[in-house]
Amino acid sequence: MDRFFSSLAGDIDQYAILPVLYHFGWMEWEELSFDWALICVYGLFAVILTYAICWPLEAWRPVERWPSRKAVAVDVLYTLISRVGVIPIVSFLLFYQVQTAFTGALADAGFIPPTLETIIPPLFGHPLVTFCLYALILDFADYWRHRLSHSFRAWYALHALHHAQRQMSFWSDDRNHILDDVISFLWFFAVGLAIGIPPLQFPILLLFLRFMESLSHANIKLSFGPFEYVLVSPRFHRLHHALRAAGRNSCNYGAVFPFWDMMFRTADFSDVYLPTGDARAPEALATGGYLVQQVTGTKLFVKALAKS
Ligand SMILES: [Zn+2]
Ligand SMILES: [Zn+2]
Repeated sequence: MDRFFSSLAGDIDQYAILPVLYHFGWMEWEELSFDWALICVYGLFAVILTYAICWPLEAWRPVERWPSRKAVAVDVLYTLISRVGVIPIVSFLLFYQVQTAFTGALADAGFIPPTLETIIPPLFGHPLVTFCLYALILDFADYWRHRLSHSFRAWYALHALHHAQRQMSFWSDDRNHILDDVISFLWFFAVGLAIGIPPLQFPILLLFLRFMESLSHANIKLSFGPFEYVLVSPRFHRLHHALRAAGRNSCNYGAVFPFWDMMFRTADFSDVYLPTGDARAPEALATGGYLVQQVTGTKLFVKALAKS
């Protein structure tokens, strides 16, 4: 499987990326272009895997049956843009650059930045444990990012795009306003730099976390039984998207692990599957096309900024 990914990435690199780099004279990227292609391939594979797992589950035990799935189409576009395009570019190429510059500058100043392994030496030689710890820390940071995005009027104006979807499905995870995505990336960058996540692991971590988030958005009647307290289930995240909870006072902000909601008293484990959406969001945010949603979100954001 690994070989298949590598050879696919090799082809993409050779026929699509390198010619562009040569054309524009961006030779300094040549060394990285294969890794970048590989992460695009991982992104595509993650989408296919998500589809292969979530689609049968949605067909088997849907919470809602829709006469038309038109509103879902735009979410598919969001997912492809984000996972195959933006995540690989931003999380790998940019993160790589920023991290190299950051650690370089620190080294010049005579300071070697700590990594998780230097802070907790027993982690040396246990990459899987370290990986899980990275995931845990990133998810904790994401809990607060998400919770704060519900606390500020202007920030929620952006996040409302995510909540406007009434036909919530496993495609809905990536439906976000671009500005909201930019904030998320900066947030993750800061945490990633602070704990010294290696550049190649960063996008893989993001893809892993995003896979779990796709599942939690799925239109599936599914809870994890006793594991409800360990991993965020579709039921748990659906309560966050419930119509009644839309806006600045919601519950269940955790994306992958429910611990943070339990710890900070925002968890709701009720055994219900409620309709989703945000009644106050303009219709364009719910059913408009990609550009219409982005423009509407921007207008709402500017209006909210002016108000606050
Ligand atoms: Zn939210
Ligand atoms: Zn969500």
